[in-house]
Amino acid sequence: MSTPPPVPSAAVTDEGRCPCLSGETYGNCCGRFHSGTAAAPTAEALMRSRYSAFATGNVPYLLATWHPDHRPATLELDPGIEWRRLDILSTSGGGPLDTTGTVEFRAYYRQDGQRGTQQELSSFIRKQGQWLYVDGR
Ligand SMILES: [Zn+2]
Repeated sequence: MSTPPPVPSAAVTDEGRCPCLSGETYGNCCGRFHSGTAAAPTAEALMRSRYSAFATGNVPYLLATWHPDHRPATLELDPGIEWRRLDILSTSGGGPLDTTGTVEFRAYYRQDGQRGTQQELSSFIRKQGQWLYVDGR
C-alpha cells in the first residue's frame, strides 16, 4: 500500500490570502510571481514573494530569484519553521526605474512552539528586468 505524499501545511490556493499579508489573494499577489505569469515590478514585491516562497516551501523560486554570484548550490528549508507574518520596515530605491534597492524587513515565525523574529536589510539588483536578491545583513 502506497502512502500519498504529505501535503505541505503551508499550502495556499490562489483564492487564499497571500502569506505576505498584503491583503490580496495569493493569486493576485505573490502567486503571479511564483508561477512566472509576471515579474516582480519592485524590490519590495520581490522581497514579499521570497517571503511567501519561504512560507510555502517554494525552494525553486528562492533559488531562481537569488543572484547567481550569491546563491547557494542547494537550499533546504527547515520544515519545523512556520512563517507567520512579514513587516516591511523601510525601502530605498528598488522602484520600476531603479536597478538597485534595499528592503529592511522583520519576519515572524514559530519553531517548535516558540516565537521568533528575523530582521534583515536585504539588497536587490535588477538584471534584464528581473529583480534578484543579492544578500542581507
Ligand atoms: Zn504576497
